[in-house]
Amino acid sequence: MNHLSIYNPATGEKIADVPADDAASVAAKTARARAAQPAWAARPLSERQACIERFRAGVVRDLESLAQTMTRETGKPIKMSRNELNGLLPRLDFFVGMVDTVTAPETVYDEGGMKERIEHMPLGVVGNISAWNYPWFVGCNVIVPALLTGNAVVYKPSEYATLTGLEIARLLHEAGVPPHVFTALVGGGPVGAALLEQKIEGLFFTGSYATGARIAQTVGSRFMKLQLELGGKDPTYVCDDADPKAAAESLADGAMYNTGQSCCSVERIYVHEKIHDAFVAAFVETVKGFKAGDPMQDDTYIGAITRAPQLDVLEAQVADAKAKGATLLTGGQRLPGPGNWYAPTVFSDVNHQMELMKEESFGPLIGIQKVASDDEAVQLMNDSRYGLTAGVYTPDAARAQKVLSRINAGSLYWNCCDRVSPRLPWSGFGDSGVGLTLSTYGIEAFTRPRAWHLRAA
Ligand code: NAD
Repeated sequence: MNHLSIYNPATGEKIADVPADDAASVAAKTARARAAQPAWAARPLSERQACIERFRAGVVRDLESLAQTMTRETGKPIKMSRNELNGLLPRLDFFVGMVDTVTAPETVYDEGGMKERIEHMPLGVVGNISAWNYPWFVGCNVIVPALLTGNAVVYKPSEYATLTGLEIARLLHEAGVPPHVFTALVGGGPVGAALLEQKIEGLFFTGSYATGARIAQTVGSRFMKLQLELGGKDPTYVCDDADPKAAAESLADGAMYNTGQSCCSVERIYVHEKIHDAFVAAFVETVKGFKAGDPMQDDTYIGAITRAPQLDVLEAQVADAKAKGATLLTGGQRLPGPGNWYAPTVFSDVNHQMELMKEESFGPLIGIQKVASDDEAVQLMNDSRYGLTAGVYTPDAARAQKVLSRINAGSLYWNCCDRVSPRLPWSGFGDSGVGLTLSTYGIEAFTRPRAWHLRAA
């Protein structure tokens, strides 16, 4: 049997060899999911809700060991692993609390013996191919509403978060979700590709633009529901009336949290020329205070780079920025190993000729660009093929509204950043993806509305 070897990116050590799937086992598991789905959908919603409530209790009970597993395989600082698991709980509560309302049948017409009703059916069997950077969040954004609405789920966690994916499966099964209704697959890209070959009614993907585009091409003519949650190059504008120190502290965290490996990390900063220098000084001071080191230590802020190839991306963006005249203010190189480490890196005097202002860095690297006006900031913020989130810092609500309403992004932030809420839809414009998760729309996404025309005889 194939094995997938799991390494700790902070030390380079092998943690585990896990039996991996192949095309035949993917086909068999998906077929079993199809056979099991109708009985799951036929169970009362209250039973499915009770399963997710027991799953939640399992997460709470095992939180510390789950956090350690995630930190060991992704290099995420342990405090941030705990934060992710604690942050998951209100998401689960939201889904369990709202699913009744979203899926209740609706009578939309009732006159002269004629009734019209909308029924919210499950899609059937859905595939979920997931990312490693927030494996609990991005996994459960799909898995939980999909199960609650009566779907069977075939879930392929990232090969960089496999142990976490298997823990999600263990806890769901312990909570009463039948084994074939929720199935985890182990493996990398080829196992994900094998899942695309199966008969499924929906494919929900979180990951890079490159993989998302390949998946869209592969499944295009198959007419399944396709959602792609992809990367970003998220901009923030700091106006001249903002407090430069407060904005710098907030944005340094937004840029470097999870070692910059968040889909909604702040990836570009534009600062009004009047406060540019004060902002940059405070930003660099904050970043220099971030402690890099053993992700298992409570006071570590900068952890490992999870995927070794990303070090080359960071190095190339840094070399390109330097060659094109950017000013390196701190960092700019790998940190000594073993494991995958990169120093938190800040550039000023950047522009849109540079890769670090165009393509996702997905690491602790940020460029700060000076602007002369709100109009210039808006033009630069929109100069991107991505559109996941964007923000503005100013005490002036009307100014913030005016700037943000002109920005092409799925989530808009006023005086905050790098924030996700279960109550709000999570979606991207442009190459940041199609479809959405979270909010009531992110429950509805796993259902198919069916029309009933009913005339009493
Ligand atoms: P990735 O695209 O490398 O991998 C994502 C998943 O796709 C993995 O499970 C991988 O095994 C699988 N895969 C790879 N090749 C495949 C193929 N040919 N067919 C089917 N599946 C295949 O991305 P990643 O490194 O895991 O994640 C980082 C990216 O995810 C970043 O770009 C980040 O911005 C994005 N992301 C987006 C969101 C969001 O909500 N928009 C959330 C988290 C991460």
